[in-house]
Amino acid sequence: MPESPRQSIHRMSDILASQVAAGEVVERPASVVKELVENSIDAGARCVRIEIRKGGVSLIKVSDDGCGMSKADAAICLQRHATSKLVQVEDLFAIRHLGFRGEALPSIASVSQLTLTTRQASDIEGWSLSSEGGIETPLTSAGRAPGTEISVSNLFFNTPVRRKFLKSDDTESGHVEHQVRLHALAFPEIRFTFVRDGQQVFDVPATHDLRFRIADFVGRETAAALMRIRPTEAPGVRVTGYLMPISAARRNRRMQFVFLNGRPIEDQIINRAVRDGYGGFPPGLHPALFLYLEVEPALVDVNVHPAKREVRFRRPAEITMAVMDAVASTLAAHARGDAESEPQTNVPEAPPAVVPRQPAPATKPQAVPHTPVSPPEPQSQRPVLRLQPLVVPRQQELELPPAPAVAAEPVPAAEPAPVAPLPNFRHLGTLHQQYAIFENKEGMVLLSPRAARERIIFERLQASNRHPLVSQRLLVPELIELDTRDMGIAKEVKPQLEQAGFQISPFGRNTLRVEAVPAILPLRKVGDFVQELLRMFTSGEVRLTRARNPFEPFARQLARQYAQQEDITSYLQEPLPLLSALLECEIPYCSPGGKATLLPFPMTELNRRFSNA
Ligand code: ADP
Ligand code: MG
Repeated sequence: MPESPRQSIHRMSDILASQVAAGEVVERPASVVKELVENSIDAGARCVRIEIRKGGVSLIKVSDDGCGMSKADAAICLQRHATSKLVQVEDLFAIRHLGFRGEALPSIASVSQLTLTTRQASDIEGWSLSSEGGIETPLTSAGRAPGTEISVSNLFFNTPVRRKFLKSDDTESGHVEHQVRLHALAFPEIRFTFVRDGQQVFDVPATHDLRFRIADFVGRETAAALMRIRPTEAPGVRVTGYLMPISAARRNRRMQFVFLNGRPIEDQIINRAVRDGYGGFPPGLHPALFLYLEVEPALVDVNVHPAKREVRFRRPAEITMAVMDAVASTLAAHARGDAESEPQTNVPEAPPAVVPRQPAPATKPQAVPHTPVSPPEPQSQRPVLRLQPLVVPRQQELELPPAPAVAAEPVPAAEPAPVAPLPNFRHLGTLHQQYAIFENKEGMVLLSPRAARERIIFERLQASNRHPLVSQRLLVPELIELDTRDMGIAKEVKPQLEQAGFQISPFGRNTLRVEAVPAILPLRKVGDFVQELLRMFTSGEVRLTRARNPFEPFARQLARQYAQQEDITSYLQEPLPLLSALLECEIPYCSPGGKATLLPFPMTELNRRFSNA
């Protein structure tokens, strides 16, 4: 091929580079809102007001009462890689701000008409500048309250193809609202006002109590069922937040909020740790929760996703354990009725808002439009996320092997089971020969003996790691005929069968001889039971091969199958010993498969339903 006479490699102009970067950072109006609000939060704002028109396409306006920018900063903030937050590459491992790449403002400016007005509290005047498609006008002085206001109009006006990808105004507004809600849940101490097409959608007052902020969004009734997560710490990690009871689980993840150092994240490792913490969860259902992780910045890489929604943990094992532990111990304590005695009553009507130091409109809904009026104290340094200083790990500690098999080390109970947990419960009767009814000081509790037995058996089997299970020798060994596939499986699961307390040996080509069964599982029809058990593995319904600890799925299946065939009449007649054994479990709240063992009906809930009827 003849060489082209023209040079084909050239440097992109800064504006073109910003437009290309905008493709990653600015996907839709909600992403603009995200970047602008993050900047406001980074600037230490205590009030952030977000206004959009036409789904954010015609206007996005974010105003804050944060630290503002000096004239010099305002002059360069729209330029590529202008950031006040990252100076050297080591800073990437100590990120305590939401932003750090210095590419949001130039990217947004390159695909919109942008106006910025800002003032530092210590300055007597503010500064304003505009840009159209990244081409800036000179700075002019402007009056405004301390803080910053950025208006973005006609998003994608110069990139019509991008604009075509946007959905309807309603859909885009919905995305923006969701985004603002995430910020508001991440930072309850900041007041957020959201205005859509001239109508105020919400105005949530600042509060120190996360529960009030959650209640602002989910309603007071739902918030009343929140269980406060027992704050759990591991080196470099702190887990707090609220769980909803299993009954609030959803088919989608819309009620699942996970924040890491103030950023909403979606993370498979965390999701799995949560499910493990619940002691398993029915497939297709997602627990509802508000989980807050504070992780030492050195332990997490937030620079792996353009919008920073995904993160990479440097020591996933510890984070996983802390999350699992937090969830499990919260549920356990709650099921025992000794949850941290945070009143589980309704959230009061008027949540105590944070009282602003200045006469700021923190409690009364503000008429539209408003400019945040409470100036922060002059700040020489920019605010950072409040994270307890923790020891930064040395390099070799950062490279620990992946998480140990979670099931191999059962979650330690948060505290010793109470010596006499049962005075709390009074047996009232039986419902439809299926459930035992109790009352306790909170209200009524139903117990499912089958699910309870499943949990108890499972945990006893699991404990065989530490204490081998006792076998019960059969007077007459049982012979079972199997087809070749089942025989093959029997050989594969022999170690698990033996760990559980079965003694089995081959007897001829297609026959197995069962000589002993686990003493905790007295079986009447040994042959049928073992055959059925093996069939679950042959059919592939339960798989051991992919499990980190193959005994766990085995024990889960064994417990399930045993509890299914048990006669529960005696448990219904005398359920207190069963309840007591359940409450001694590490995770009494649900079966290993995620079915509820206990269902509470608190008086608050019953009263509410009756008075609403
Ligand atoms: P980054 O947040 O990654 O630093 P941005 O492009 O989002 O980059 O912002 C560039 C800089 O502009 C920030 O580092 C900050 O100094 C300044 N800035 C942006 N928005 C605000 C704001 N609302 N208040 C104060 N300073 C701001
Ligand atoms: Mg930013």
